[in-house]
Amino acid sequence: MDELKPLIDDFGRRITYLRISVTDRCNLRCVYCMPESGVPLLNHEDIISYEDILRLSAILSRHGVSKVRITGGEPLARKGLTGLIESLGKISGIKDISMTTNGILLDKYAYELYNAGLKRINVSLDSLNKDRFKNITRTGNLETVLRSIELAKKIGYNPVKINTVLIKGTNDDEIIDFVNFAKKLELNLRFIEYMPIGGNIADAVSSKEIEEKIKSEFGDFSPIKDTPNNRNTIALTENSSDESNIYDGVSRSFGFKDGKTVIGFISPLSEHFCGDCNRLRLTASGNLRLCLFYDNEYNVKNILKENDDEAVFEKISDIVKLKRFKHNFNEKTKNFQYSSWANDFMNGIGG
Ligand code: SAM
Ligand code: SF4
Repeated sequence: MDELKPLIDDFGRRITYLRISVTDRCNLRCVYCMPESGVPLLNHEDIISYEDILRLSAILSRHGVSKVRITGGEPLARKGLTGLIESLGKISGIKDISMTTNGILLDKYAYELYNAGLKRINVSLDSLNKDRFKNITRTGNLETVLRSIELAKKIGYNPVKINTVLIKGTNDDEIIDFVNFAKKLELNLRFIEYMPIGGNIADAVSSKEIEEKIKSEFGDFSPIKDTPNNRNTIALTENSSDESNIYDGVSRSFGFKDGKTVIGFISPLSEHFCGDCNRLRLTASGNLRLCLFYDNEYNVKNILKENDDEAVFEKISDIVKLKRFKHNFNEKTKNFQYSSWANDFMNGIGG
């Protein structure tokens, strides 16, 4: 079907990317994401249904959303995820499906997910040291995650990206180890600046600091653009064809001469990346969230009670107009003296 009116905010930014949190549940308790005791969880019946996710994705895809990412909580903790991936793949406008996972259950599902159409995957990994990994995740086993990453490579996921959050005094001495690990396994590595969301207080390590450290160790480390021309490093999904599917508006990328490893930086703290924001978030509770950093959410489950798809689109289009130009992260961080301001925990929003 022809693409209809695009989804555009009041600042002319076109929304092409939907991040879907399929569950608020998780089998880990990462120190920067959730309290040890966990967080109040949604009742099962309050979690957005796969039917609603698929209908919303289909409607938005007809209006230009071509990329979706499945996240959580831990997405693999929700039953029936392979079926969701398969159904998303049948929506003709969706050209790029990816998932962010902690990797604990990935070895169990990696093959079936791949066969269902998932070709790109991000695995979160914050330490290469067994004891430290356990401390950061509070329960996780490093070996399991490493095995999952190797399996994902072997199966042919491309790219396999590693998401790493560094915290001063906890794991910031592992920068070079992570780069060597990524080079060895030909992985893409993304450093995400720590964000004080949901009651977490810790010292972030800025992207600039990480960049300088890598530059001083590797002479051939330089900026690259994530485009389909980086064929060796930025792999395309089978049916990806345009740059917007691949280039993540909020990430800056660097590479090495060997052309095999990409290092990305996501820097909400130290840089304003909002000008290129192309994303919308669907929370596990079925709310639309226009920005990670603003608490305002809009109930999509109610909107989807409307039978007419175009009426649903019009309501969502009105909500998108409320998207602010930039996040207020730095101001809020200052005001709250580096404590958190958000009422939600990352596990429900999806990161
Ligand atoms: N459970 C999956 C995982 O860990 O990959 C997906 C959900 S998790 C909320 C998505 C991403 O958010 C992960 O890469 C995680 O490292 C990141 N994240 C969680 N809390 C964060 C925080 N306070 N600051 C920065 N990134 C965070
Ligand atoms: Fe779970 Fe992911 Fe949050 Fe860690 S970052 S507690 S794995 S949702």
